[in-house]
Amino acid sequence: MSARVVILGGGVAGLEALLALHDLAGERAQLTLVSREPDFLYKPLLVEEPLGLEPAERHELAPLAAELGADFVNQAAAAVDPARHLVTLADGSELPYDKLVVCLGGRYRPALAHAHTFPSTEEPLDLERMLAGDDAKRIAFVVPPGVTWSLPLYELALMAQTRARALGSDSELTLITPEDAPLAAFGVAASAAVAEMLAARGIAIEAGAHAREEEGGGRLLLSPGQRRLEFDEVVALPVMEGPALPGLPADASGFIPIDPHTRVVGVDDVYAAGDGTDFPLKQGGLGTQQADAAAEHIAHGLGAAVSPEPFRPVLRGKLLTGDESLHMRSEIGGGGGEGEASPDCLWWPPHKISGRYLAPFLYRSEVGEPEPPAGSLDVEVQLPKEWHAEPMAIDVDGSPRVD
Ligand SMILES: Cc1cc2nc3c(=O)[nH]c(=O)nc-3n(C[C@H](O)[C@H](O)[C@H](O)COP(=O)(O)OP(=O)(O)OC[C@H]3O[C@@H](n4cnc5c(N)ncnc54)[C@H](O)[C@@H]3O)c2cc1C
Repeated sequence: MSARVVILGGGVAGLEALLALHDLAGERAQLTLVSREPDFLYKPLLVEEPLGLEPAERHELAPLAAELGADFVNQAAAAVDPARHLVTLADGSELPYDKLVVCLGGRYRPALAHAHTFPSTEEPLDLERMLAGDDAKRIAFVVPPGVTWSLPLYELALMAQTRARALGSDSELTLITPEDAPLAAFGVAASAAVAEMLAARGIAIEAGAHAREEEGGGRLLLSPGQRRLEFDEVVALPVMEGPALPGLPADASGFIPIDPHTRVVGVDDVYAAGDGTDFPLKQGGLGTQQADAAAEHIAHGLGAAVSPEPFRPVLRGKLLTGDESLHMRSEIGGGGGEGEASPDCLWWPPHKISGRYLAPFLYRSEVGEPEPPAGSLDVEVQLPKEWHAEPMAIDVDGSPRVD
């Protein structure tokens, strides 16, 4: 008989877990996907909305689950009873499980009361309007302390600068971040490349700075140094809290503690992946790697010929700039040196979330029917050691070729 494997959350980690379990556990698992929202939202492309570009893509979850032979329950999970192996849903009904994978993401909270919070469900950010007026604006882009995934803010600043140039606006853009250097998590090589890009674009950077609001928000107090800077508009990322699902352990901020195989600490048969876990860096690619580790461990436990690897974080980020994108890669668990940064693809398919199963599945119309690589590092594309003069393109089979 198949084991009942329930996945909570239809976001990045939930979908990757569903795809990986479908592949690795096969008939051994009867899969059920539970999601509060009926659609999967590709959050990385939300950054294009404030500049009047296409809305971020969505995929209906019900047909996607059906295609993988999984049941789909469009409801919120309200609690877990690990002793009875039951999930309580919002309508009060109970869903039994043999193995549970919790992928509920995080909850955003505005960090600066008077700033434009991005992303926000309240008032959509409208950078196009800010830049379009006759007056040049002083616009601050703020990474608040405690935010570990700052890339979207760099994208907003760079894309806003491209748009300002196109509109003939003399607006002054400043990026304020507690990071020691721009996008420091990606390592020295990427950080230097991003610093150079910001300088070339005339975007001022205040690194190593914590910003606080004063007098209604337009004035920011930067520490250390207690410097005051005035702005016409302030855009800030929100801070994140964990899902704090009743019945499961959580740290002080509601994040679920996991071990290297992504098992929830102290709870039998429950795994967690993605932004909702206590892993400090909240990023989609890392969420997929955690989901893969959970799927391998579950499939192995169900008797599949899979050797479960612990989660070894490799950060892959594609920075949208309003011009040529920058691909960055860093082995944040150690051993990867200074990391890499390149305008060329460093992984395949070269989309913003580098999930081993998710990316080929979502973009199968571009890459053909997905054949997931055997391991997460197999998604990578080797660049020639020598720098090349010509732009590169990538063959569908993953081998680089110089056009
Ligand atoms: C603007 C922006 C840009 C980004 N850019 C990138 C990028 O370039 N690359 C990258 O790798 N990452 C990027 N990220 C981060 C990435 O989107 C997240 O790390 C990723 O979505 C986390 O996946 P998750 O599955 O943990 O959570 P989510 O994707 O948030 O999914 C959570 C799911 O759980 C469901 N849910 C929540 N509560 C319940 C409940 N109680 N019951 C049932 N279902 C529930 C939600 O409906 C949702 O389906 C970006 C994020 C943002 C906001």
